[in-house]
Formats: sequence, C-alpha cells, structure tokens
Amino acid sequence: MSNPTVTIAGAGPSGLTLAWWLVEHGVRVTVLEREGSIPRDMRASTFHPATLDLLMDSGLADTLVERGTVVPQWQYLIHESGERAVFDMSCLGDVTAYPFRLQCEQFQLTELLAAKLAEHPHCELRFGASLQSATADNEGVHIHYYDGGEPREKICDWLIAADGASSQVRKSMGLDFEGQTFPKTSITLVVEHPFEDDIPNLLGVNYVWLPDRHYSLMRLRDTWRFTYSPEQDQDIETALSDEVARAHIARVSARANNATILARNYYTLHQRCLERFCHGRVIFVGDAAHLNSPAGGMGMNSGIHDARSLADHLVPVLQGADVGLLERYARRRRIIALEEVQRLSARNYARHRETQASKRQLIWQELQETVSDPLKHRDYLLDAAMIRSREREQAIE
Ligand SMILES: Cc1cc2nc3c(=O)[nH]c(=O)nc-3n(C[C@H](O)[C@H](O)[C@H](O)COP(=O)(O)OP(=O)(O)OC[C@H]3O[C@@H](n4cnc5c(N)ncnc54)[C@H](O)[C@@H]3O)c2cc1C
Repeated sequence: MSNPTVTIAGAGPSGLTLAWWLVEHGVRVTVLEREGSIPRDMRASTFHPATLDLLMDSGLADTLVERGTVVPQWQYLIHESGERAVFDMSCLGDVTAYPFRLQCEQFQLTELLAAKLAEHPHCELRFGASLQSATADNEGVHIHYYDGGEPREKICDWLIAADGASSQVRKSMGLDFEGQTFPKTSITLVVEHPFEDDIPNLLGVNYVWLPDRHYSLMRLRDTWRFTYSPEQDQDIETALSDEVARAHIARVSARANNATILARNYYTLHQRCLERFCHGRVIFVGDAAHLNSPAGGMGMNSGIHDARSLADHLVPVLQGADVGLLERYARRRRIIALEEVQRLSARNYARHRETQASKRQLIWQELQETVSDPLKHRDYLLDAAMIRSREREQAIE
C-alpha cells in the first residue's frame, strides 16, 4: 500500500498522542474531532511516571511539568486523628525520569498536542467533524461523518476509534461493551481555598477518611479538586447543590465553608472492555476500548499507553510488516486493561470507599505495613506508577 492514510476519530489524549507518534514516523493522519475546539472539561488530573517517560522524547513531559504541580508524596489520611499512610515516589528514581505524580489537567496535554499537530505537514486536524458510522471492506474503511453540520463520506486505509466512552464507532459497528457500572457515583468540585492552611500535613494528593465517608483532595496549582460521593438515591440536582456541596466541604474544613466553587462535575463509574480491540482495519484505543474507575487516576494514562503500543505496532505494518502484528497490540493492551488497570482501580475504588470500621481497620493495617516496609512500598508504587504494567506488556506475545 503506497502512502496509506490513517483517520483518527477523537482528539482526546489517546487520539492525539497516537496522531503525534504516527506523524513523527511520516504517516499521514487525519483527526476528526466532534467539538469545535479541544474540550476543557474537568477530567483527568494525574499523570503517572510511566506516562511522563513516554512523553519525554518530544519535550511534552517537561512542558506539562512546567504547567502542573509535582507531587512526590501522596497519602491516605484519617481526618479525625491525623494518622497518615504516606507513599513516597522518590524511591522510584532508578526506574523513571519522573519519580512523582504530576497533577495537571488533561486538556493541558491535548491543547499542546493540537497546537503541534495543527502545524505538522502530515496532519489534518478537523474540529466540528463528528463521525457517524464506519464499515470496513477490502478497499479500506468507509466512514460517514458530519463536518460543520454537512454530511460527508470518505474512504481511509485505517480508522482508529479514539472517540471515548460513548464511542460512536463502537456503536455503529454494533459491538458489545461488556462490564458493569459501579454502585456509587461521584462529584468533583474545583475549589479555591487554601486547604493546606487548615489541614495539617496535607500533601498534593490525599485520600481522606472520615468515620462515615471518604473524600479526595487533589492539588492543581492554585485550586483544589474536592471529590465526594452523593448519598444513595439522592437526585443529581440536590447532590450538586451549593448547600450539599458546602456541607461536604465543611466536613473537612469548617473554614472553607464559603470558599469559591469554580466548577462541579457529576459522573457515573464504569468498568467495561471490548472483546476485541482490532476489527479488521478499525482499531480501538483508550476509553472507546475499555473503562475503569477513576480511583488512582489510570484511565487517561492507560489510553496514552494504548496509543504508544498501537504506534509501535501500526508503523511497521504500514511499512510492510505482516498485518497480524496488530493482534499483538490488541492482546497486550486488553490483558493490561483487564488484569492491571481494572484490577488496581477497582481495588482503589473499594479501599477509598470502605466505611465499615472493622474492614477499614484491616485496610489501614495493610497500608501501614506497606509504607513501613521498603520492599512492599516500592512494589506497591511500581503498580501505582503504572511502571509494572508497561513492563508486563512488553513480555506478552
Ligand atoms: C472526573 C474524572 C477524573 C479523572 N481523572 C483521571 C486521572 O486523574 N488520570 C487518568 O489517567 N484518568 C482519569 N480519568 C479518565 C480520563 O479522563 C479518560 O480515561 C480519558 O479522557 C480517556 O481519553 P480518550 O482520549 O480515550 O477519550 P476522551 O478523552 O473521551 O476523548 C474522546 C474525544 O473524542 C471526541 N468524540 C466523541 N465522539 C466523537 C465522534 N463521533 N466523532 C469525532 N469525535 C468524537 C470527544 O469530543 C473527545 O474529544 C478521569 C475521568 C473523570 C470523569
């Protein structure tokens, strides 16, 4: 195939990192993004060391570090007593160039990549272009999409579905997205208040336990992200209301009661995965292929790891290698999605939310044992930093 064309549906972190790694290898790429510009919605805020290592070569990681907050230590914190289980990522300095969590909004990465790709001679980045359906045959992939509201169709050699959790590519192909919805929903607020002045020993990332519930507090330069779970059967409007949101904030800091709430976001949590990531010339990455609980911050990171893996497999195929190589991409990343990302994020979900005193006591004991034993501590952090899943992936044939 001479000069094959790749179309990517979706300009999220998965789609744009893939586009970047493909154009750097001389592949011609078209990205179709439904929205009129890069979405600035309140989603991922944590970049893990393994992901920053992948973004190092092109200078992207260092720019993100300049725009974000470096968090070498994070913790579980018992609010009443001030007891802590502190994880210190600086012990990973021998296996990563970035031994810390970087707190930085995902749009910082996607805006940066969109700006680079807009100027790249191999990339066409189209905003306001919404993919409607895809059908693959021997000629290539026929796609139908709306561009600026006008219906369009085209044929490309490969279509990458990076169009997120509600993937229209997935729906138009009638693929099942098997899995479950977690019983509890979440609300995240962006709050302007110096919580660090009110709560002793607060770090950049904190999972805070109160006797009857949990909160998370994550630092983002000048603001904090504050997450809580609505009551069972509470309607969304009430759960998001100022009265309820402020009552939750007051549980961790009475002084923050009148803090400015800059944004609020309600979301349900799913754990799902496609049976196959490759369907002929249509290949799935990121949230379009698999979903996990955001606890531990792994969804965007694993989407970027998918993109790196797919670039490593697709570029040789475009250059003439056996197309069967792509099945290894699918195998590797599906196993990692199920056995690493979903397993660890489901464990985090359960740990953060446990309120039964006896079960909490056991979790607390385990956390204390982990942080006080250097080997266990390092072992835990290799998983949390997503370094182990990247290593494991390379060994899957
Ligand atoms: C509150 C919250 C906090 C989170 N925190 C973290 C975290 O800290 N760390 C982490 O790793 N993950 C986190 N996640 C998960 C993370 O946000 C997602 O896993 C990540 O955005 C997935 O990236 P993606 O590129 O696969 O999909 P998306 O980011 O959803 O991007 C898909 C893109 O496709 C576009 N699109 C959709 N349909 C079409 C169409 N038909 N045609 C063309 N374009 C289309 C969309 O507009 C969007 O731009 C969090 C999620 C939530 C909700």
